[in-house]
Amino acid sequence: MLDQFDLSPLVTPAMDWFQVNKRDLPWRRDRDPYHIWVSEIMLQQTRVEAVKPYYQGFLAALPSIADLAACPQDQLNKLWEGLGYYSRVRNMQKAAEVIMEKFGGQMPSDYDAILSLPGIGPYTAGAISSIAFDLPAPAVDGNVLRILARVSEDDIDIKSDLAKKRAQAALEGVMPASGSGIFNQAMMEIGATACLPNGDPLCGQCPWKKYCLANRHGSWDHLPVRSKGKPRRIEERTVFIVRNGSRVVIDRRPDRGLLAGLYEFPNVREHLSEEAALAYAEQMGYEPLRIRRLEEARHIFSHVEWRMIGYEIRVSDAELAKEMVENVPADKISWPVDIGEISRKYAIPSAFAAYAKAIQLERGPKREDRVMGL
Ligand code: SF4
Repeated sequence: MLDQFDLSPLVTPAMDWFQVNKRDLPWRRDRDPYHIWVSEIMLQQTRVEAVKPYYQGFLAALPSIADLAACPQDQLNKLWEGLGYYSRVRNMQKAAEVIMEKFGGQMPSDYDAILSLPGIGPYTAGAISSIAFDLPAPAVDGNVLRILARVSEDDIDIKSDLAKKRAQAALEGVMPASGSGIFNQAMMEIGATACLPNGDPLCGQCPWKKYCLANRHGSWDHLPVRSKGKPRRIEERTVFIVRNGSRVVIDRRPDRGLLAGLYEFPNVREHLSEEAALAYAEQMGYEPLRIRRLEEARHIFSHVEWRMIGYEIRVSDAELAKEMVENVPADKISWPVDIGEISRKYAIPSAFAAYAKAIQLERGPKREDRVMGL
């Protein structure tokens, strides 16, 4: 159990190991609090390799907290396109506005002030405080909970608030007076490269192998204990690529709710047959010339799973030239846009990736214009 386990002998071996074994990651090259903040928010629920190009593109486009605060919403969403959980970047912008108003444009060097910012919880506040400002604040995330559960052979449900509180308290008791950021990053690194979340942990490479009860007893395969969440709701959708040549209809999603303020291809919440899809297109105000069935796709959000079918519907120029399409709900805007322009300006979330691919629409941060911040 963690509350009966002495963590103090683990601190120095973890820090020494980290100095030798740390991966060279772009956000480890300086201790700028804005850079650390951006990387920590991007890394939540996203793999390191996926984050790298986004991190570089984001900072090239928005090099300061002032730039983030002033960034138009469409550009901000475009910089985040494909990373998912877009509320993260909306909250970052809200926090940047607070930093501009209350803290003179500089990230405050105080744990409680950092924690008070929108979208920043105890983990992120701990990471920024310790890495940028060397404050002795723990940064407890799922990785840290996993390695602590294993090292102390603790079978508490790591999704519970009690597990987080206990880990926070246990680490507060052993944070080094200097180098707390190194210690926090060392635990993150152990979780990422040795005490793996899926598959067997690589105990031979772990600085805690001598101390770890799960390693000693071979109990790592049933640790940590994680309660099962609620099953996801399944939603069936039909996605429409309504196009003429290189012009395709996109909608803007409402400002609240799932994928708020992002762009999408028109879609309905049911699976439609080809005949029903043609009828629906006519009801939307188009005269279809041809229809082609597209591949099926699936997208998993935290609480819902979309199971999608799609149709490409070719329509005449005159039909597609209509500025606004009839029968579109009032909170949506629907208009035809050149594929190249969508690629440059409008963020299409990954849920529609299969349909974006079907029209060779480029998404994500790899294009040069994104890195240049245009
Ligand atoms: S020794 Fe093995 S089980 Fe224990 S913390 Fe290290 S990698 Fe995880």
